[in-house]
Order: sequence, then structure tokens, then C-alpha cells
Amino acid sequence: MTQLLSDIANRQSAAREVMARLGVASVNSGASAGDWIEQPAGGEIASYNPSDGSELGRVLLAAEEDYDEVLWRATHTFERWRLLPAPKRGEIARELGDELRRAKDDLGTLVTLETGKILAEGKGEVQEMIDVADFAVGLSRQLYGLTMHSERPGHRMYEQWHPLGAVGVISAFNFPVAVWSWNALIALVCGDTVVWKPSLKTPLTAIAVQHICNRVLGRHGWNGVLNLVIGQDDVVGDRLLHDRRVPLISATGSCRMGHIVAQAVAGRLGRTLLELGGNNGVIVTDDADPDLVVRAVLFGAAGTAGQRCTSIRRLFLQKGVAGAITEKLIAAYKQVRVGDPLDPATLMGPLIDGNAVENMMRGLRAIREQGGEVLTGGGRLNTGAGYFVEPTLVKAHPHMAILKEEIFAPILYLIEFDSLDEAIGWHNDVPQGLSSAIFTTNLISAETFLSARGSDCGIANVNIGTSGAEIGGAFGGEKETGGGRESGSDSWKAYMRRQTVTVNWSRDLPLAQGIKFEL
Ligand code: NAD
Repeated sequence: MTQLLSDIANRQSAAREVMARLGVASVNSGASAGDWIEQPAGGEIASYNPSDGSELGRVLLAAEEDYDEVLWRATHTFERWRLLPAPKRGEIARELGDELRRAKDDLGTLVTLETGKILAEGKGEVQEMIDVADFAVGLSRQLYGLTMHSERPGHRMYEQWHPLGAVGVISAFNFPVAVWSWNALIALVCGDTVVWKPSLKTPLTAIAVQHICNRVLGRHGWNGVLNLVIGQDDVVGDRLLHDRRVPLISATGSCRMGHIVAQAVAGRLGRTLLELGGNNGVIVTDDADPDLVVRAVLFGAAGTAGQRCTSIRRLFLQKGVAGAITEKLIAAYKQVRVGDPLDPATLMGPLIDGNAVENMMRGLRAIREQGGEVLTGGGRLNTGAGYFVEPTLVKAHPHMAILKEEIFAPILYLIEFDSLDEAIGWHNDVPQGLSSAIFTTNLISAETFLSARGSDCGIANVNIGTSGAEIGGAFGGEKETGGGRESGSDSWKAYMRRQTVTVNWSRDLPLAQGIKFEL
């Protein structure tokens, strides 16, 4: 670990070079609507590298007046942007994808520096943005509406979709740029403008992405389509939630935040798209392939240091296979290399900050109090100023209260079960409903899990883990996960308004339902 720490120190200068190439070093303003606001008045914060606690850079925050300037630009630009034909808007998405391809290594490295996720995942996150850009280009020619047969002669009925307006996007620290792209690139081709409020834990990646947006949109003479406003939750966040000029707030983060957002936006009858916390379970039946299970669970539970909304948190093992899989998992967990996320040999980087470490330790105390047994891990790693912890396996009882909470750390509960029905019951007995999986070679078990009496989650997988979704599907979860769907499939409909049109091309005026209303 000492060696790893000195490697991290050596890489600080490399980090500065990456940021300089991405334009982050030269502009520290946290507000942009095409042009950067030079001296935003909301104070200053630092962004830290969770691997060693060092300061990566400082960012000037937006005050209310800076927010207003950005919002003004976003709403006024919308008036023109909505009139640009969607395939032309798709061209901009294509160019954004091209720029992201060029920036993939640098931006991926910056994601790793700021979040602590390993480099393969940092770059994978940028790849996800590129994939969404490609999807958005195609989508720009497929914003289809239905046509219906009218019951009235000489009438035509159809649906068309119009842009909504300036859309607010609030993103979480753990996917600092991919989640923005799920929202912003789809909203962009739908004809909306976007105001992005990122997490204060990851402002530099947001600034780097905004530079790319400004470059591409600026080439085409567009300012104010994709906008950034970095500010405190009780200043900028609160203004955004209550702003009647913003018809949709798409918010990604904890269930706690989702409750605040949902109530504030509903109070003005605005729309929300919520992507909140998960508590993802995997059921393993006796006939499953144990090696497949161990590989999938290792990535899904220890990967990203358990800081994915889709991380595996609860593993339900049928009694015939529980012993063997538990042993294999303990052995695998002991081999996980924890350390510098820039080192290709590392599988697990640090948690995001000291609070996250404290939260994990608090969770472990509660687990022990409630009768859980730590099988391996459970400690913090003594690495100076970095926030490294051990990946942790816990033997748990199905009725422990803490199983209902999302602890955003690499803790995996192992729970034994007898029958599939029992496992499905326990699996669904949590407030969250994001992602889920079953490992089985039995068709009846798989289909039971996928049926209406199976998993109650937004995502249900067979023989793959709960994380690592592809962008082509609609992503999101049920219950307290918020019900939103983003990215692929027909998620674009959330960013548009539906208009039902009836055209009477006859010379009569028949009424629907056969009603007669004549003098
Ligand atoms: P968080 O809730 O602390 O913050 C998320 C975002 O909400 C940040 O930008 C934050 O500044 C903002 N925010 C918080 N309170 C606010 C308020 N009162 N008004 C306006 N904005 C406010 O979450 P986090 O710690 O950054 O991220 C981790 C959480 O996000 C986990 O619960 C994880 O499961 C969830 N998450 C969900 C998804 C998903 O797609 N379902 C994806 C990623 C993360």
C-alpha cells in the first residue's frame, strides 16, 4: 500500500496535465450558458481526490443571480432550439459523441481522479456517454407518434410530440458524467435545453464536459442549449426545484433527496423523473453455475467499491449451494486488490470521502448489533489520507432491519433460503426497487422470477449481475427508487409533451359518442 500511495503522489502532476487538456485548469467558474460567468458569487469549493485527500482544483459556485442568468439563457435559447428540425439537433449529438471519443482517455482519467473508481470504469463511463450520443443521433429521426382511426367520418387523429422547455438535470457523484448524458443528450434531440446541477463532490468532470459542449455548440452558433450551474443545494438546488420556468426536473441521487425533489416540484405541478437509491438482490438456486455466480457477484458487489446504484447488496443463496459459494466468495474477496484506481491491477478504489467511510462503519456496527456476522473485511485500510475500505461479506438473517437500507459501500449480505417463493418474498421486502437478478439453469425458476409474482424491480436479469446496464434499455426502478426511466427504449417521451390532434377534413361536424347538439 505504501508503494501505491507514492504512485498516487507521483500522479498528481499527470492529473494537472489531464485537466489542462480538458480545459478545466484555466476556468474555475461553476456556471456556463455557452460563455462562462467569470466571477460567480456563490463562494468557492475544492474538489478532492479520494485516493489521497489531495485537492484537485477549486471551483467558484453560482449564486442566485448567476443561476438566473443561466436560466434566462436556457429559456430564451429554447424558443429557437425547439424549431430546429430534430435530425439537425441529432447532428449536434453526433459531434458531441465524436468529441467525447477524442476526450475519452482524459475524461475517463478525470472521472477516476475525482470519484476514485478504477480507470477501466472511468473510461467505461465515458464510453457510455458515447453510446448514448450514438443512440440520440438515431433517435433524432425516430420521435414517432401514433395515428388512430377516428370514429367520426372525414376525421383524422394522431399524436405528435413537442419539446418541453428548459429541463433541470440533477446528478449524483457516483456517475458524474454518464447520468448527465442519459438525460442531456436525449433531451437535446427532443428539442429541450438543459440546465445541469452536478454533485458538489464532482465539479471538475462537469466543467470538463461543459467545455466540450461549449466547443461543439459554439461551432454552430448556439449558446445556452446545454448549460451548467454548480451551486449549493439550498441556493441553486432549491431555486431549480421551485422554478416554474423548468417544466421537468430529472434528479438522480439518494431516496432522501428524491423525497425533497418530488414534493417541491409536485407543489408547483411540475414533472419529475426520479432515479434514486437501490437495494439490489440476487437469488441463486441450487442448480446455478457457481463460477458464474462468483464472477458476477464480485464485480457487482465489490466493483466501484459498492458505490453504484445497481451494486449487489443482498445475495440469497439456496441451502444446497450456499456453503460452496460462500467459501468461494470469501476466497475471492480476500484477493481483491484495493488501492490506487489509476493502477490497472487495482480492482477496487476508495470510497468518495470520509463521511462515506463513517457511514460504512456505522452500518457495520448496526449489522453486528442485529446479529449479522462479518465473514471477511469490515475494516478501513490505513492509507493516510485516502478513503480505502475492505470489501466485506456478512452472513445475515432475512429479517434484520438494516437489510432494508442502502449502505453506499462494499458490503454484501449472504442470506440462505429453502424455496424460491421464500427468496422472492424476502427479495421484494425492501422499500427500493431498482435492479435484480436470478442465477439458475432451471427455466421454471427463471420465468417465475421474471413473472408478475417475481421480482418487483425496474430491471430483472437472468444469469448476469444487477449492475452494468446497457444504454439501449430503459433504465430505472420502482417503489422508492422513484419510478423514472432514462436512456434507451421510449424513455425520450419523458422529455417531450404529447399532443393529441384531431383534424376534421369533412364539411360536417359530427360529435364523438354520437351526441346530437343541434338547433
Ligand atoms: P445525493 O442524494 O446526496 O445527491 C445527489 C444530487 O442531489 C447532488 O447533485 C446533490 O447536490 C443534489 N441534492 C441533494 N439534496 C438536494 C436538495 N435539497 N435540493 C436540490 N438538490 C439536492 O446522492 P449522492 O450521494 O450524490 O449519490 C448516491 C445516491 O445516488 C445513492 O443513493 C445511489 O443509489 C443514487 N443513484 C441512483 C441512480 C439511479 O439511476 N437510480 C444512479 C446513481 C446514483
